[in-house]
Amino acid sequence: MASDRAASQATRFDFLVIGGGSGGLAGARRASELGAATAVIESHKLGGTCVNVGCVPKKVMWNAAVHAEYLHDHSDYGFDTGNVRFSWETLKAKRDAYVSHLNRIYRNNLDKAKIQTIQGHARFTNDPEPTVEVDGRKYTAPHILIATGGLPSVLSDAEIPGANLGITSDGFFELETLPKRTVIVGAGYIAVEMAGILSTLGSKTSLIIRQTGVLRNFDSLISANCTKELQNTGIDLWKNSQVKSVCKSEKGLEVTIVTKDPEKKNDEEKTSTIQEVDCLLWAIGRQPNISGLNIVSQLNFLELWHLVSVNYLMRAIKSRGKENVKIYKTSFTPMYHAITSRKSQCIMKLVCVGKEEKVVGLHMQGLGCDEMLQGFSVAIKMGATKADFDKTIAIHPTSSEEFVTMR
Ligand SMILES: Cc1cc2nc3c(=O)[nH]c(=O)nc-3n(C[C@H](O)[C@H](O)[C@H](O)COP(=O)(O)OP(=O)(O)OC[C@H]3O[C@@H](n4cnc5c(N)ncnc54)[C@H](O)[C@@H]3O)c2cc1C
Repeated sequence: MASDRAASQATRFDFLVIGGGSGGLAGARRASELGAATAVIESHKLGGTCVNVGCVPKKVMWNAAVHAEYLHDHSDYGFDTGNVRFSWETLKAKRDAYVSHLNRIYRNNLDKAKIQTIQGHARFTNDPEPTVEVDGRKYTAPHILIATGGLPSVLSDAEIPGANLGITSDGFFELETLPKRTVIVGAGYIAVEMAGILSTLGSKTSLIIRQTGVLRNFDSLISANCTKELQNTGIDLWKNSQVKSVCKSEKGLEVTIVTKDPEKKNDEEKTSTIQEVDCLLWAIGRQPNISGLNIVSQLNFLELWHLVSVNYLMRAIKSRGKENVKIYKTSFTPMYHAITSRKSQCIMKLVCVGKEEKVVGLHMQGLGCDEMLQGFSVAIKMGATKADFDKTIAIHPTSSEEFVTMR
């Protein structure tokens, strides 16, 4: 275990991890399994973004929205559910309790693995050995993993007057009541998910995007279909638009938006205001959480690593372009909707390369895709070809059978 040399000196470990999120905890547990004396330093709550303000509470909210969506279909399936009421307060209390339960489990797991948990904010010192300081105490190790994750990007009032009247995805999880009127800014997956959740649970929701579609970095079919489906489900989508200013009135926020018409060459802009907004949510990206770590000297290395990894990815994709690529696509209304008046589309796409048609890409959007995709990803990692997919028995009637019957 760690050794404490002298009060003024640093406590020594084999491996130190800054950040008790998904990445840090996984790294710490592997190191400990290999026999390294390991400690995790966490300034907030164990589990990091995923457990506290990311995947986990998001999925709880998502599941709640799925319930709301199915409620629309109940009468089509013969149920009379009467006047159903939804309590955001009940949901939030249960969600928060679940997250706290997970925090405790994470702590117990670290204790069981004999990984020391150090609560506080780590900052590198200028000692000759790699050392960090937490609440006046020093810790050193030959290997220090920086797993400090990211933070939601925010705009200053200087950039957009009144910007700080809005919240980010972190603030979404603090909302005590369901907002009546929401404006979400952003076209990434967090913006799209939050818009879907809030709108389905009953908040009148507008989504402001700078260009014409959401999820622009995703497969083009996914991006186009998601943009269409958002509008189908009643989200008020503002394309080619940006927030110009925000101000507070007695009835809530007033969000002023400028919209450009890309068809018009003279850069004509239209200004509109959405009134009585009680939740403005910025979902405009995330940035590395490295301030306060005192790693200025390592910054060039970090930037370089980012460029190298992005460049590598782009080259890998481009080199694929030279090969023989075949794309199979389908879109349909899932069987679930056979008797419902509400309909949603399911889209699927397979990207195959080479003579043997090795499957290198599989895209899907629609009911049940979250559960479906994991199994297919194993097949792809194992080198499955289109012929392997075709040889597979179709489980009928399901949506996933389309992947093994595509022509
Ligand atoms: C709203 C939302 C929804 C998401 N949904 C999904 C999803 O459905 N599926 C998915 O795969 N991903 C999802 N993600 C992304 C996922 O949550 C992150 O990719 C993942 O949590 C990153 O893990 P990490 O360990 O790198 O960082 P983090 O989980 O952010 O952990 C970093 C930790 O370091 C701590 N820390 C930072 N600086 C210091 C310091 N100096 N000293 C001590 N501690 C420090 C922080 O407090 C934090 O706990 C979502 C993210 C958000 C925001």
